[in-house]
Amino acid sequence: MSYDPNNIFAKILRGEIPNDTVYEDEHVLAFRDIQPQAQTHVLVIPKGAYVSFADFAETASDAEIAAFVRATGKIARDLGIEENGYRVISNHGRDANQEVPHFHLHLFGGQNLGRIIK
Ligand code: C5P
Repeated sequence: MSYDPNNIFAKILRGEIPNDTVYEDEHVLAFRDIQPQAQTHVLVIPKGAYVSFADFAETASDAEIAAFVRATGKIARDLGIEENGYRVISNHGRDANQEVPHFHLHLFGGQNLGRIIK
């Protein structure tokens, strides 16, 4: 699947659509989901053009992957959800009902998560 430069997260990265940013660095943007499924529900996205988890895992540089994973851990810590626990999910493709074709992690926390699997 080729990358669609007009997907909604590409527009967010270009500043064409507003977002509630919680973290940003050279490689990563994280913002609150507009339809939160938990008390804390943040989306973590790479700034590079990757369609999905598989695309990111296969084609991103080691530096981008390391920055992304480390940023996700830092975001959870900074949001104050590390101590009580959190959940990280990525939907890849049709069976997972991936809606936005720009790789993202869902970061859930701030409550007992029960069976929330997004
Ligand atoms: O993993 P999936 O692609 O299904 O999730 C996309 C997520 O992006 C949804 O949780 C949706 O609420 C969120 N979203 C958002 N801001 C937008 C468009 C979608 O937070 N402008």
